[in-house]
Order: sequence, then structure tokens, then C-alpha cells
Amino acid sequence: MRVLMVAPPGAGKGTQGAVIAAHFDIPHIATGDLLRDHVARQTPLGREVRDRLDRGDLVPDQIVLDMVGDELLRAKRNGTGYVLDGMPRNITQARAVYQVAKSLDMTANVALHLQADDDELIRRLLARAALEHRTDDTDEVIRRRLALYHDVTHPIVAWYASRGILVSVDAMRPVERVARQILTALEAMRPLLDHVPEHARRPVDLTGLGAAFGDA
Ligand code: ADP
Repeated sequence: MRVLMVAPPGAGKGTQGAVIAAHFDIPHIATGDLLRDHVARQTPLGREVRDRLDRGDLVPDQIVLDMVGDELLRAKRNGTGYVLDGMPRNITQARAVYQVAKSLDMTANVALHLQADDDELIRRLLARAALEHRTDDTDEVIRRRLALYHDVTHPIVAWYASRGILVSVDAMRPVERVARQILTALEAMRPLLDHVPEHARRPVDLTGLGAAFGDA
């Protein structure tokens, strides 16, 4: 299973990425975690990106692309799939990741889109700020990250829809319900992945299926 996630900050990419990774026994490649690790270890790369992370700005495309390229190569060598969390964040990155993955014969077979309202996202991020003290979880920086998501990240969803690999889920529900929807959708798609070419598939939209997954 090769999945990439497109979601606004606070939608649960990290949490659901870990669930997917555990379920399919694949590596969880989280660009934000990799970058924060560099900052914590004070590597040259960490020193270069720290201010951008603190402001909620994107770091240069090539930096994340190199990091992710290394991780995809490792997954290829280990013969696994992957769940990519945090990249792509703009259309340039989307095309670049596609090219790198293609050269490894490792392109994503699912682009998982988590949807949630801004008010809910802000509420979650501020709640997390109180617990984790991430430097970019302040009110002002959260708004900047959300604006960036709407401006440059969300538009790539349409690109994945046109490639036939988009799966959208409603991430407003409790974590376990979102996880159940995601795993159900991915398991349902698994038999198709090797047999139905991408261009012959249709986007999968589960956002209106709340009742089927236990909502009142
Ligand atoms: P969130 O999705 O909540 O903003 P992440 O942990 O995914 O959190 O990312 C944190 C920060 O790391 C981003 O605000 C950005 O500065 C940087 N970052 C992560 N992934 C990328 C990427 N693909 N391109 C550029 N910057 C990135």
C-alpha cells in the first residue's frame, strides 16, 4: 500500500498516518517530524529551517524533496509501501514527488484527503498547543498555516482526483471513527490497486457516509 495524505493542519494526518502505517506494516514518512527532528538535533539543515517552521512558512521544496526521496528509496530497498504525511504541500511538490516516486516505480496508489472545518482545526491546534508546546501552535501562526493550506495545498486535491487516486474522508469525527473509515476504504481498494489502471478509477468520496460508520 502506497498512500500520501493531503490535509490541513490539525486534521489528524499524524495520528491517522500512524494508524495506516501500523495496519499495513509500512513506514510512516512525516516531513514535519523529520524537520523538527533536525531542529532538535541542531543539524545544519535544522538551523536553516527553524525560523520558517516557527513562522508557519513552508521550507524550500528541494529540502523536503531530498528528505522524502531518501525515505522512498529506503522503502523501495526494504520492499515496503509507505504512508507519506506532510508532502506534497503545493503543486510543484506534487509533480516532483510523482517524478521521484515514478523513477523508483513507487508512485502512490491512494491520495487520502482529510476534510475538516477551520473552526474545528483551530480548536484542535490550540488544545494541542496547551499539551505539546509546539512552537508553531500559536493563534497567529495557526491562522497562517491554515491560509497557506487553502491557498497552495488544497488545490492539489483536484490533481489527484483527475489521476483517479483520490479518497476523501470526513475528519471532523472522533479519531477512531475516522480511522475506521480510512482503513475500510483502503482495504476495499486493495484488490483494485494492481488490476484496475488509475485512469479507469473514480475518486472515492466517503464524506457523506457518516451514518454507515456509526454516526447518529
Ligand atoms: P501541520 O500539517 O500541522 O502544519 P507538519 O508537522 O506537517 O504540521 O509541518 C510542520 C511544518 O513543517 C510546516 O508548517 C512547514 O514549515 C514544514 N513542512 C512540513 N512539510 C513540508 C513540505 N512538504 N514543504 C515545505 N515545508 C514543510
